[in-house]
Amino acid sequence: MGDLAQVAVAERQRIAEAWLAELNAALARGDWLGAAEVVGEDSYWRDLLTFGWAFRTCHGVDAIAEALALHYARSGSHGFDIDSDPGVGRLGAFGETIEFFIAFETSVATGRGYVRLILDPKAPERFKALAILTAMKELKAFPELHRRERRREALPVPVREWQNWQEQREATRAFRDHDPEVIIVGAGMAGVMTAARLQQLDIPTLIVDRMDRVGDVWRKRYHSLTLHNEVCTNHFPYLPFPDTWPVYIPRTSSLTGWSSMPTPWSSTSGIARTSSAGHMTRTSAGRCGWSGRTAASGRCGRRM
Ligand SMILES: Cc1cc2nc3c(=O)[nH]c(=O)nc-3n(C[C@H](O)[C@H](O)[C@H](O)COP(=O)(O)OP(=O)(O)OC[C@H]3O[C@@H](n4cnc5c(N)ncnc54)[C@H](O)[C@@H]3O)c2cc1C
Repeated sequence: MGDLAQVAVAERQRIAEAWLAELNAALARGDWLGAAEVVGEDSYWRDLLTFGWAFRTCHGVDAIAEALALHYARSGSHGFDIDSDPGVGRLGAFGETIEFFIAFETSVATGRGYVRLILDPKAPERFKALAILTAMKELKAFPELHRRERRREALPVPVREWQNWQEQREATRAFRDHDPEVIIVGAGMAGVMTAARLQQLDIPTLIVDRMDRVGDVWRKRYHSLTLHNEVCTNHFPYLPFPDTWPVYIPRTSSLTGWSSMPTPWSSTSGIARTSSAGHMTRTSAGRCGWSGRTAASGRCGRRM
């Protein structure tokens, strides 16, 4: 098979389906070595939380078979299926690839992944994976409260004391009458994203950062900074980037409406727009420890 870009979409679909059918069959038999061989000899399988509480990368048949034997059956994973039209990509010396998203389930979660197939150098009509990614998408019992799962509160009878949505969010963020269940140290990209996700799982969350404002860790970086990945591979939950932004997102964007967002993921307005997680700046987290099943001990020193 020569130029993959010339292969019809239906044929690419058939190739992807045939590869997945082989993988599913081996996994269903508990034939871990067989499954690893379907994946490929010099291949990587990266798993994010699907097969246990770890981010795990396995390289090669033996390592993949060993990881499957240890973790696959316990995870209750099944039903790997194509989740996008297979496209054609290219990866350095490996040449052209057939690439597609996959969807699957475990006993507790839905998962999503990505597969890159190349022609098997030893059997030119056969495809092997160069890389497969499996990632947990969502816990089935705890869906994120967004899109079809948006909060649906009863329409209130207007009374004078009634708090509107904005006021409720501000009260939630202020933690006047309740405590956070999670405290995140650091309002950088990771902290803000985690807070946004937790809040959509209805878990009261407070972020602390020692800087003056959320986002200062980026604001204070060098003037000409731009992100290193292309815009399509960067992402902020619940807050898609405008279609008009450049391929490499600058540290500062002067676009109207986004000008208060020095980086999309780490501004106060970003948090405010996307979630009701609270934040406390100019606050340093000290030593923290777990002191039992119901309480954590720690020290948060607010400097000013
Ligand atoms: C030039 C450049 C380009 C990049 N391009 C990309 C890209 O294109 N795509 C991509 O995905 N990634 C990119 N990255 C990497 C990515 O931005 C970083 O991995 C990310 O910022 C790390 O986020 P973080 O939240 O873990 O840590 P940080 O951003 O370092 O944030 C940590 C925060 O924790 C606070 N803190 C620390 N200790 C305490 C304490 N004890 N008490 C209170 N607060 C505390 C700090 O003040 C800080 O605000 C790039 C990085 C650079 C430098």
